[in-house]
Amino acid sequence: MIRVGVNGYGTIGKRVADAVAAQPDMEVAGVAKTQPNFEAHTAVERGYPMYAAIPERAPLFSDAGIEIAGVVDELVADADVMVDATPSGIGAENRSLYASYDTPAIFQGGEDATVAETSFNARSNYDDAYGADTVRVVSCNTTGLSRVVAPLEEEYGVEKVRATLVRRGGDPSQNSRGPINDILPNPIEIPSHHGPDVKTIFPDLEIDTMGLKVPATLMHVHALNVTLESDVTAAHVRQLLDKQTRIYVIPEGMGLDGAGKLKDFALDAGRPRGDLWENCLWGESIATEGRDLYLFQAIHQESDVVPENVDAVRAVAEAADAETSIERTNETLGIGL
Ligand code: NAD
Repeated sequence: MIRVGVNGYGTIGKRVADAVAAQPDMEVAGVAKTQPNFEAHTAVERGYPMYAAIPERAPLFSDAGIEIAGVVDELVADADVMVDATPSGIGAENRSLYASYDTPAIFQGGEDATVAETSFNARSNYDDAYGADTVRVVSCNTTGLSRVVAPLEEEYGVEKVRATLVRRGGDPSQNSRGPINDILPNPIEIPSHHGPDVKTIFPDLEIDTMGLKVPATLMHVHALNVTLESDVTAAHVRQLLDKQTRIYVIPEGMGLDGAGKLKDFALDAGRPRGDLWENCLWGESIATEGRDLYLFQAIHQESDVVPENVDAVRAVAEAADAETSIERTNETLGIGL
């Protein structure tokens, strides 16, 4: 059993903890939180030992009726692997804590790539993380792009990727984010930082990205143009993408015309929190012209990195090869719509 500690129990952390708990070869050693809010109460109900992320705040937990198992240092000492899901920038501050206990750590995409020995996407570069002490699971958008680039690169070779990312303004619970009524080029600089982030997984890839932010919380949508190294047909690309376990090629006739219906579909299917771990890629949008490929995909920012974190745990723990890990994660979570 790999004992996994989760530091930072918010949007990503709580999902990672549940995904870890579902694995036959892992258990949740505990979760560390800064405050005894509603998520802390849920964690306790789920049976996850609770640790105070900030030792001085430990009394707040007992005041709120939550018994804590200790402070975060004790969790780090006890865990085989730590998943850091704290807000951007805090992970880097926590790095020395994990190192001081020789506990391998997995960071999230909000951190700079320099936080870890390698950036990670299970489909693309699992082996780079094998036995590493520090790994960064790339952001939701980079994960979504990498899952498409990897098979295209292997099958046809990629000359250049151009992607426009229509980004949700914030997650549903982030009521301080926006825009509420606007369409923002964001970041306004072109190309955006997303392309360089994809290059942390594919160093030789030619990629330019542009971003916008819109008043939505549900998902991101990507418009992709990929120039391949050989002529392709849309049917061939579709077959290739259909075979990828973390890409759901949306069939015609489903009426899934946008992120709203995709989220409804996930909720109807009984997915926890309505999560969509897979890239949702519209089959009808796959179009080719010579070596140029075009497509649209939607990315559920709150959940697509969750299976990647689970695989990253197995990679750092040297517990399974890529194929075995991905298959086990997919099966236990129920990935594949
Ligand atoms: P979040 O704000 O929802 O959750 C972070 C949690 O960490 C909160 O509960 C916060 O109270 C807690 N926290 C703050 N300081 C802490 C500390 N010092 N120690 C322990 N816990 C602390 O954030 P999130 O959306 O889950 O993002 C976490 C990371 O995942 C970031 O790097 C982010 O960029 C990345 N990420 C987020 C998304 C997304 O869309 N939400 C997608 C992919 C990656």
